[in-house]
Amino acid sequence: MKRHEFELDDLIERIKSNDNRLVALQVPEGLKMQALEMMDAIEEDTSARIILAADPCYGACDLVHDKMQRMGVELVAHMGHSQMNIDSGMPTEFINVTYDGDPAIDPVLPFLSRHRKIAERRLSQVEESVEVSEEDAQERFMDAVGRISPLRGAKLGLVGSIQHLHLIFDYKERLEAAGFDVEVPVGGARLSFPGQVLGCNYSGDRDDIGHYLFLGSGDFHPIGLVLHTGKPLAMLDPYTGGAEEMSFERIEGILRQRFGLIMSCDEAKTFGILIGEKPGQMRRNLALRMKRKLEKHGKKGYLLALEHIGPDLIDFYPVDAFVNTACPRIAIDDSVRYAKPLITPFELEVALGDKKWESGYKFDEIP
Ligand code: SF4
Repeated sequence: MKRHEFELDDLIERIKSNDNRLVALQVPEGLKMQALEMMDAIEEDTSARIILAADPCYGACDLVHDKMQRMGVELVAHMGHSQMNIDSGMPTEFINVTYDGDPAIDPVLPFLSRHRKIAERRLSQVEESVEVSEEDAQERFMDAVGRISPLRGAKLGLVGSIQHLHLIFDYKERLEAAGFDVEVPVGGARLSFPGQVLGCNYSGDRDDIGHYLFLGSGDFHPIGLVLHTGKPLAMLDPYTGGAEEMSFERIEGILRQRFGLIMSCDEAKTFGILIGEKPGQMRRNLALRMKRKLEKHGKKGYLLALEHIGPDLIDFYPVDAFVNTACPRIAIDDSVRYAKPLITPFELEVALGDKKWESGYKFDEIP
């Protein structure tokens, strides 16, 4: 923790030049232990009073919005995430947090060499579009190894979580020196930096990237990236220096679970359609589209808007299943916590027969 760097200078300058008196500080869960220290540092250097927005915060999708305006808050200081293509309605200063862990690449090289061979083999395989039976199509759906978009290259895509992105071009050079053809992908408007990935957005993926290296810790981003692309992925953890790979068995296990949930919605007649109230999770139009779709198939959809989503808040509704249009990872990572099937909009379309199994699994990305 001590090796995290918080760039508070710009925030302090902005508070002073605006003469802000009440500022809300929003800190991700992993850094909350240091929140009071940061509040002290800002209050000592400015005449502002700081309120910690102490609710859980997992991303820049979850910006403090108008509720704090009513409290008199003039500025939001949001730490550890980057700006998204959303407007929370509040002036917001994003504070970079970087980590100086700089592990050697040697432990990850064996994974990368093996993954490059997989990518090259896939590249050499001629794509044949053949009619498949329903059973084969369902098999293909669950086969992460087989489901990839058309590949036109076997480059190594180098990505990372935000606190390590300041090192990404150093690592690019090191990996190139080790003989890899490296691409740092640039994603869409939800992302701010080259090489950045979010749990809900991997828009930098390109068809000339055949495999990935993720610089970061934990498996949250790697799971999403492999679900989204079907490409092999190695991980280098700047906190421990350890290297590992995201196994296809793990991803196929998740796909089998998704398959089971889709099948269990086959007979469902009534659905709760969840709309996230957080500014960067709110997909009202998608929710309305799902409601119309259900109606077209003679089923009923109830729109339920929530700031936080959890089993205690929805399990009791007398519906057969839920479709989640808020953070996509709630359905993918947490569905076992819910008593009823919790599926993504794409999965609903598959359950209704509007999308085909054989096109493979489509990750629910927020653009
Ligand atoms: S994965 Fe979920 S919590 Fe993270 S940024 Fe995306 S919507 Fe927000």
